[in-house]
Amino acid sequence: MEKIEQAVAEKDFLSNPKIVQNYTLLQEIGVFTYVDTLSREIRNYKSLFSSALEIFNRTTINEIMDAAVWQLSDHFLPSFIVFLWKPLQNKEDITIKGYKNYKLVDLDIKISNITPFEPFFRKYPKPINYDLLAFEMGESEEFASLNALHPELIIPILGPSGLYGLVLIGRKILEDDYASAELIYLEQLMSFVSQAIQNHLHYERTLRDVKTGLFNNGYFLTRLNEEIARSARINSSTSIIMMDVDKFKVFNDTFGHLAGDKVLESLAMTVKQGVRSGDVPSRFGGEEFTVLLPDSNRDAAWIAAERLRTMVEAMRVPWNPPLPQVTISLGLVTFSGDVSLSAAEIIHRADEALYLSKKRGRNRTTVWGSAGLLAKIECLSLDTAKV
Ligand code: GH3
Ligand code: MG
Ligand code: MG
Repeated sequence: MEKIEQAVAEKDFLSNPKIVQNYTLLQEIGVFTYVDTLSREIRNYKSLFSSALEIFNRTTINEIMDAAVWQLSDHFLPSFIVFLWKPLQNKEDITIKGYKNYKLVDLDIKISNITPFEPFFRKYPKPINYDLLAFEMGESEEFASLNALHPELIIPILGPSGLYGLVLIGRKILEDDYASAELIYLEQLMSFVSQAIQNHLHYERTLRDVKTGLFNNGYFLTRLNEEIARSARINSSTSIIMMDVDKFKVFNDTFGHLAGDKVLESLAMTVKQGVRSGDVPSRFGGEEFTVLLPDSNRDAAWIAAERLRTMVEAMRVPWNPPLPQVTISLGLVTFSGDVSLSAAEIIHRADEALYLSKKRGRNRTTVWGSAGLLAKIECLSLDTAKV
């Protein structure tokens, strides 16, 4: 008995005398072929399971795509793979990432909208041959931009609120067609990729302010606390800029809240464009915005603040009839590891500096502490600027 169990455990069926006795019968009825098929299926599921783990363990969309591309490379070599997806808050363009030979490349395609593909993929939520999709959907602008690329397969990234993105896969380098087993693998792998991308997009959305698409107050505070800890550890300088739209109540009363909302959207876009990629531009609340500037001393933050102020001054808000120019007042505070301050104390200082900018005529930047200051708000020897 023990011997048989051991043989089974080692998959050494042929050392089992009963099997040997009945070998011909078992072979005739296809038991061995069936066992082989099952073993192959188990191997495939194991491989799929480890691909899923690889993909779900990634923490950014870029990492998810890298993992997916590497997993695919174990199976076949497509001439290119392109991922395109839309951000959930719809404030930005479609993001496009292309890979050739498993490396990120710049691709000359422009797609501003994937919504026209949505009705089709809602009905047919599977990978589809590009020519077939083109045939089903007829001529459209979106196809014109895809035509130059001419993918072999298009795979939808679908979720509860519709089509999030598409994955475009080129012909296999060796030119033969995708086999049906490969298509099944692709479909299964991409369903994980699609789920992982969606999870990430939803997570990202919890960090964002819905109206402006900037980071929200909660994320700003989390990052501020991280920076306080980091600057204490390595004694770096970090700055925050607090800004507030000037006389915005009058603006709303005069031009209406919808026009006011449009101003806040444009302002958010301007702030986003005006800061570095490592900075954290956020909506603090209402018409108040903050930027966290890691590794920025007072001078660097001053330049950034003044850049934002002048950009807002020059900003044109698309609205009919045209709206008057809006301005912002800014307060700036810098902290480093040698002084221990809480997040609340830092924000309070930025508020004080902002208050002084308002008091001194608005549309200007004030640096906290530039004259030993702010205990007396009347103090006039402050660093303020007005162009
Ligand atoms: P100050 O220059 O001193 O900042 O004057 P202010 O009028 O901007 O300041 P106040 O705090 O009196 O008013 C802020 C206004 O911002 C009032 C509020 O209606 C408006 N506001 C806040 N959030 C929003 C928003 O999401 N949309 C719109 N349209 N207005 C908003
Ligand atoms: Mg305010
Ligand atoms: Mg205001």
